[in-house]
Amino acid sequence: MSDLTDLYQAVILDHNKRPRNRGKLPQATRWATGDNPTCGDNCTVYLEMDGERIGEISFEGSGCAISQASASLMTTQLKGKTLSEAEESFGEFKDIVTTGREPEEFNEVAAFAGVHAFPARIKCATLAWHAAVDALKQPDQIPTN
Ligand code: ZN
Repeated sequence: MSDLTDLYQAVILDHNKRPRNRGKLPQATRWATGDNPTCGDNCTVYLEMDGERIGEISFEGSGCAISQASASLMTTQLKGKTLSEAEESFGEFKDIVTTGREPEEFNEVAAFAGVHAFPARIKCATLAWHAAVDALKQPDQIPTN
């Protein structure tokens, strides 16, 4: 079990050190920002749509290790998804971080199961996912640059 815990910690550290899809997406047509004032985290998610699906996704933000690693992981999980698919993935992620339930097979998302023991950090872990679903619900806008 401790091997698995180490593996999960390694996943979170890796996403912190080498965040995926970080930085503003210049051609984004939808975006949304979330704040978690109790911890000082913030996150803006940018989307470029491909029809009903997320074509490209990126995030910008700052905050604690959990919030930044979760944002990075979220971009890898939601790319290519529709709004209903993204909401389903977010639902599964929320279930993992609130109950500590781990999927049967290894998935990077399970690295966040340990968060359930620290209820104050659940908002950190879900911040970017909230922002992504919010962004998906926005009308298309003209890219700002
Ligand atoms: Zn935080």
